[in-house]
Amino acid sequence: MKHQRYNIDKYLQQYPGLAKWVQTCAACGARGYRPDLPENIYPHPNVGAQHLRRMFEPLELDDRGLCEQCRVHLKDQTSPTAKNPFES
Ligand SMILES: [Zn+2]
Repeated sequence: MKHQRYNIDKYLQQYPGLAKWVQTCAACGARGYRPDLPENIYPHPNVGAQHLRRMFEPLELDDRGLCEQCRVHLKDQTSPTAKNPFES
């Protein structure tokens, strides 16, 4: 089930403590929660982390901010100075 992006953004704005556990891929813009998301996020025990798990898929980014898909896709064409064309 897909949630409306507007609502998700609003939710994250409301809870910056949760927003920091959500990350965005620098290339494709995919959003997800950090795989090391804890069970409880202070000061939103329980429900906060549950909400994130419900709204997002786990998303792991490498040190360039790329998700696994983009890492594979861009593997052969990355250079240190290359600017990602999808970035806004
Ligand atoms: Zn990506």
